[in-house]
Amino acid sequence: MRATVLHGRGDVRIENVPDARLVEPSDALVAVTRACICGSDLWPYQLMKPGENPRRMGHEAIGVVEAVGADVRTLKAGDVVVMPFAYSDGTCVFCHEGLHTSCVRGGFFGTVEVAGAQAEAVRVPQADGTLVALPVGADDALMPSLLTLSDVMATGHHAARAAKVGRGKTVAVIGDGAVGLCGVIAARRLGAEQIIILGRHPDRIALAKAFGATDVVSERGEEAVARARALTGGFGAHSVLECVGTDQAMRTAIGIVRPGGAVGRVGVPHYEAIPASEPAFYNNVTVGGGPAPVRAYIEELLPDVLEGRIEPGRVFDRVSSLEQVPDGYRAMNQREAIKVMVKTSSR
Ligand SMILES: [Zn+2]
Repeated sequence: MRATVLHGRGDVRIENVPDARLVEPSDALVAVTRACICGSDLWPYQLMKPGENPRRMGHEAIGVVEAVGADVRTLKAGDVVVMPFAYSDGTCVFCHEGLHTSCVRGGFFGTVEVAGAQAEAVRVPQADGTLVALPVGADDALMPSLLTLSDVMATGHHAARAAKVGRGKTVAVIGDGAVGLCGVIAARRLGAEQIIILGRHPDRIALAKAFGATDVVSERGEEAVARARALTGGFGAHSVLECVGTDQAMRTAIGIVRPGGAVGRVGVPHYEAIPASEPAFYNNVTVGGGPAPVRAYIEELLPDVLEGRIEPGRVFDRVSSLEQVPDGYRAMNQREAIKVMVKTSSR
């Protein structure tokens, strides 16, 4: 089958690889119909070191179940399913606590252990606990929005939850990528009154406004902090969604958050220690977040997608075939595209 393999910095290829197949009795084999390229895929795309093993990329997908292992009870061939970016058994102590990314039998797609989903097919471990069957056909018009339940919409929601967004709150969102834009949707959905987007790309800002952003801050660093504080009566925002993962983004987040407020971080951190710990301490700021337990949120978010109350699929501004995926990486890396949806048509 064809699959996406990252070989080195800026070197991503579509190659013939051994067909995905069932390995464990709890596995499902899923023919991928839609996948996507994630902002987090750009980190290894930019930073992979010489000598690292080639990596099978992709952790977001919708597909059709082709086969299931002997222990799989809740899925059958032909089911249309959405795949969270982490697999989980749904039965362990952490799954019961809604923290499926810490599942004791869990793990992540697109790693050395489990091959990625930017491919014709993917092996899904712990299929019963991981996959969610969708009540739609594989070509439903809602596919783009349903696909965001694999990662970005649920991740934006997680940032909002970690930042304690609630009715009447003031929210700032750092990052105008797909996750930040979904963070705007999530903040609005949870009742935020004022939503400030920090970003500078006109197309992304327009989408943020369509999703419910009330204010835009296009400055950076200290100027961005000053502008955001001015927009909040000098107090700062109750909730800040940090959707980037850099030292600078976290500094800005802690600069903007109101005393007693919370920062929800979902950008994969590329800093060793959380910066600005002194102002965070003196302002009693909560810093929370991590990889989103997507599987815990799908039941909550799915009805809003199916009934059209939220349209996170609008973050996809480019559609590519599997063979065009390398150009999709290039386009996202150069900020030509917000997020690329990959349509596979092989099966
Ligand atoms: Zn578990």
